[in-house]
Amino acid sequence: MKDATDDMPDNTNTEQKDSARFSRPPRRRRAPGQQGPQRPPEHGNRPRHGGPGEHRPPRRPQTPHQPSHRAAEQGVRRIAIRQQRAYHAHEDQGGARRTEQQAQTYQPTRSNTLRVIPIGGVEEVGRNMTVLEYNDNILIIDIGLQFPEEDMPGIDYIIPNTEYLKGKEKNIVGVIITHAHYDHIGGIPHVIPRLGNPAIYGTNLTLAIIKKRQEEYKDISSQLELHEIKNDTVLRLGVFKIEFFGVSHNIPASVGAIIHTPEGIVVHTGDFKIDEKSDIAGVTELDKLRALSARQQPLLLLSDSTNAREVGKQHSEVDVVTELEGIIRNAKGRLIFGTFSSLLGRLNEIIQIGARYKKKIIIEGRSMKSNVEIAKELGFIKIPKGVVIPVEDMRGYKNHEIMILATGAQGEDRAVLMRIANHEHRFIEVEPGDTFVFSSSVIPGNERTVQRLTDKLYREGVDVINYRLMDIHAGGHAKQEDLKKMIETIRPKFFMPIEGNHSFLCIHGKVAKSAGYTDDNIIIADNGQIVECKGGVCVKTKERVPSDYVFVDGLGVGDVGDVVLRDRQMMAQDGMFVVIVTFDNHSRRVQGNPDIISRGFIYMRESKDLLMEVRKLVRRIVEQSANSHAHTGEINWVYIKDNVREEVGKFLYGKTHRHPMVLPVVIEV
Ligand SMILES: [Zn+2]
Repeated sequence: MKDATDDMPDNTNTEQKDSARFSRPPRRRRAPGQQGPQRPPEHGNRPRHGGPGEHRPPRRPQTPHQPSHRAAEQGVRRIAIRQQRAYHAHEDQGGARRTEQQAQTYQPTRSNTLRVIPIGGVEEVGRNMTVLEYNDNILIIDIGLQFPEEDMPGIDYIIPNTEYLKGKEKNIVGVIITHAHYDHIGGIPHVIPRLGNPAIYGTNLTLAIIKKRQEEYKDISSQLELHEIKNDTVLRLGVFKIEFFGVSHNIPASVGAIIHTPEGIVVHTGDFKIDEKSDIAGVTELDKLRALSARQQPLLLLSDSTNAREVGKQHSEVDVVTELEGIIRNAKGRLIFGTFSSLLGRLNEIIQIGARYKKKIIIEGRSMKSNVEIAKELGFIKIPKGVVIPVEDMRGYKNHEIMILATGAQGEDRAVLMRIANHEHRFIEVEPGDTFVFSSSVIPGNERTVQRLTDKLYREGVDVINYRLMDIHAGGHAKQEDLKKMIETIRPKFFMPIEGNHSFLCIHGKVAKSAGYTDDNIIIADNGQIVECKGGVCVKTKERVPSDYVFVDGLGVGDVGDVVLRDRQMMAQDGMFVVIVTFDNHSRRVQGNPDIISRGFIYMRESKDLLMEVRKLVRRIVEQSANSHAHTGEINWVYIKDNVREEVGKFLYGKTHRHPMVLPVVIEV
């Protein structure tokens, strides 16, 4: 039995999301005033003092006229919880509050000191990026993406924050990419142009997948400078000498890096597992590391913590393949395999077994086809002649002769498996007697969609086999015993867990303790926290570089910040409520009845009385406030609109216990 959380985001998953995103029409322009309830639209906004923009109203104006206009205590608490939730991710994971204040305070690099800065990936699974800096030399390892949390409506994904590297572009000597999973390459199209397009180094498969993905970003990203490395390549980039070692992982051609710096050797494992029984998922070159360690004790080990919570050892890929072979051998009907499209080692095995049992294989799904094609060209997959057939030819064969390899094992809406389950696939109709085999784990966050897909399939009367029923999946990451083995093989002076949530790193730290390390030698850093190494000693400093979230939304990078996100959350929860008032400047009265537009709050036709009361309330507030300042001549619309917002918000809360976003608009005539 395996744990459901042992896999990283995979490009099957991502590509489905990507394709959905890039086929969607361009986003509509944002309506004025959308920035939020505390920032009234410019229209009708006449500050009493100073010119526009000179005197931004405080969030809650502290005027003495202001009634104590907070909603019922309960309501206040509700808002507070929401705002907390809005920032939660930052406070807990990104340290955004801290970095906002401290962004400017980091010191220039002390001379002849090695800086190790985890820009991302040490407070989450995703957006991995590590910076090594020595004088005027900056080496980057991985530029990944992170998938948004549920409370980030509209966000496509999150990329590393490269603010620290601004102005230092010329110092960047290169970017090493350990492997082609999206949490290691996904940020490249967005980040690379900002870094002055430095050279990228990776293995053949890694580069091929980066290149393929870059095609989708032609319009926003530059031509990449790609350099292929092999496991035995030695690079000299600035003061750094870099060697590589192969690692076993759920995508072929994954490597770790051995970085010789003037302060000592830093080893970065990338993502890895140790599989002593098989090379299907690649081999972790422990001998190479053992030899390295025998020559010179490495200074620092940065090691994958994704599965640090799991005791024991990762399953061997050969056991998985043996199980799959049993399923293929005994199948009486059609077999439909769902797995990660990047799990090319396993896909190759399935194809070979299929060929042995005289099956015809159909490959379905854009990312699956494209990855298999790339892997075939590079020799990672060998397809015997005549085994793979186009889906259109399926009708010519009996059901038990057919095997389908498909995307969508995470329950993605538009992917092949869901389309089959929904009877929306052009050629493949689900039939009783089919067996669906999910040779994958469930990525955290996808539990519900996978369950929905599974239920749909059960309704169709087909067999479903997943990792809970049989050992048909092995994760790509080392569990505790293997993590310990890595530490003991390298025996570094200092150990720094990376790639995982804070708790994963702490647990990985405990694993290091079981290998004889003490707190003094274990460095658990936060995103952006600078670790300095000098004279054979590494310490975690109090300095931080910016690491708060950079959101990608459509074509925009970084233009969606906390305020926009909080507004989206507010609208998503209780909708919006727009009040439009026409004000006659001569009579100083509201003309006619205020107009009300609401979305996602209440059904207006059934709430006529409520709306009438709101209109009356608004008219009263506007006229009273406008005329209370009659002696000063000009009307303070900022103040009045804040009043409307607060009072209407309070009124609506009293009637409905909901907090829609209230947007007052004043038209002066
Ligand atoms: Zn990975």
